Amino acid sequence: MKIIDAHLHFRPGHSYFDEIAVKAGHINTEEHLKNCFTEYGICGGIVMGNQGLSPERNQYPSFLHYCVGVDADRLTGSNKIRSLDQTEENLKRENCVGIKLYPGYSPVSINDSRYEPIYELAASYKKPVAVHMGQTAGSHAFLKYSHPLTMDEAAVLHPHVQFVMCHFGNPWLMDAAAVIEKNENVAADLSGLLEGKLNMELFLKEQHGYIEALRTWISYVSDYEKIMFGTDWPLPNYENYISFISQIIPERFQDDVFFKSAERIYGCRFN
Ligand SMILES: [Zn+2]
Repeated sequence: MKIIDAHLHFRPGHSYFDEIAVKAGHINTEEHLKNCFTEYGICGGIVMGNQGLSPERNQYPSFLHYCVGVDADRLTGSNKIRSLDQTEENLKRENCVGIKLYPGYSPVSINDSRYEPIYELAASYKKPVAVHMGQTAGSHAFLKYSHPLTMDEAAVLHPHVQFVMCHFGNPWLMDAAAVIEKNENVAADLSGLLEGKLNMELFLKEQHGYIEALRTWISYVSDYEKIMFGTDWPLPNYENYISFISQIIPERFQDDVFFKSAERIYGCRFN
């Protein structure tokens, strides 16, 4: 089975990512990641950028594409014009396959007017807008801005923008499913649902109810062409994650979820 990891992070040498990688049984280096890709049959990954807008800082190895991460506070005042220019410079690159927004971490709704030019850029370059949705890491964020229902309005008002609801809005699974099912231009990734290296047998037993809920609301959407495998690496362990998603997604839809959906939605080609 071919796999695309449609949501990971790549910041070798960054202390936070170094630490969570170790907890997941990984090493936060390009070499280790490349070895994991070979071992698990992952032909490419999509980095969710979080190192600013400058194209020079968004440099990734050839087995990774990226979404340029845009912070809400870069889109106001004297920063605005330069930020939009830089976003566009990234979008012109073939390996930049989308834009990533971080509501919740920033106390700004994705329906705030400052995002209008971002949506216009996304529509004109035909590249998706991936949005952090659901639970946040750490307690400084504001969850009302990352609730999946906020994406409904953005999707309706911007029918020419393809949205990606990251983390399936976890743990607001029912709300996420309603938004994904209703809006033709909303897809989702399944990243960030596990953390660290787990004893899967124990996890499946102890989290039985949660896992059933996840299965239920993904199957409620009943359009697996909209659902993408992603991990949020280096947060979880690759072996755990592939086995977990294989158990949640019916076998006949696994080609879509593990590979085809991401290839189509992000328009990416990996060798
Ligand atoms: Zn992420």
